Amino acid sequence: MTDKTRYRNPGAGAVEFAAEFLAGFKREEAAVLAPALLRGELHDPSDKRVKRCGHCGYYWRDNSLRNTKRTCSDECKTGIKSLQKRQQRADAALLDTKPKKHKLMDDYIWWLEYPFWIHEYSMIKIGWKFERPSGIALMDYVETSRNQMGDGNRKKSNKHVDYHGDDRDLF
Ligand SMILES: [Zn+2]
Repeated sequence: MTDKTRYRNPGAGAVEFAAEFLAGFKREEAAVLAPALLRGELHDPSDKRVKRCGHCGYYWRDNSLRNTKRTCSDECKTGIKSLQKRQQRADAALLDTKPKKHKLMDDYIWWLEYPFWIHEYSMIKIGWKFERPSGIALMDYVETSRNQMGDGNRKKSNKHVDYHGDDRDLF
């Protein structure tokens, strides 16, 4: 634990260590001693079994046979592993150089004061979802549509019935 400004809840091992240490004291005395204990000022510094937990950062006593544990509890062990995994995922994402599929929106430079498109094709494809045409741009748009669709875009129905035709011939 190098970052002393980051606080986590003490793990079970850290709680046990503090409880054992403060067990013989009255409540008021314990309240005075606890901060110093948490700062690591009360235990015997030559005691190699007392260490800071690699996850919660509190002092605890390693009672494992070889004194090789780095976290005070199983929960802290799990916590440190999930942090490492998160870090690995972040690193992998940073180093991932696989080319991403190019999207039309990638061509829109929106973070400048005057946003613009670097490819006209992309602009025409989705540009007007963001800015409605007006003025000359609008006239261009109407002109273009007219050229593409003709004057009317209503389909003529094949089943059109002419009520005003020569239907009196039927009688
Ligand atoms: Zn811990």
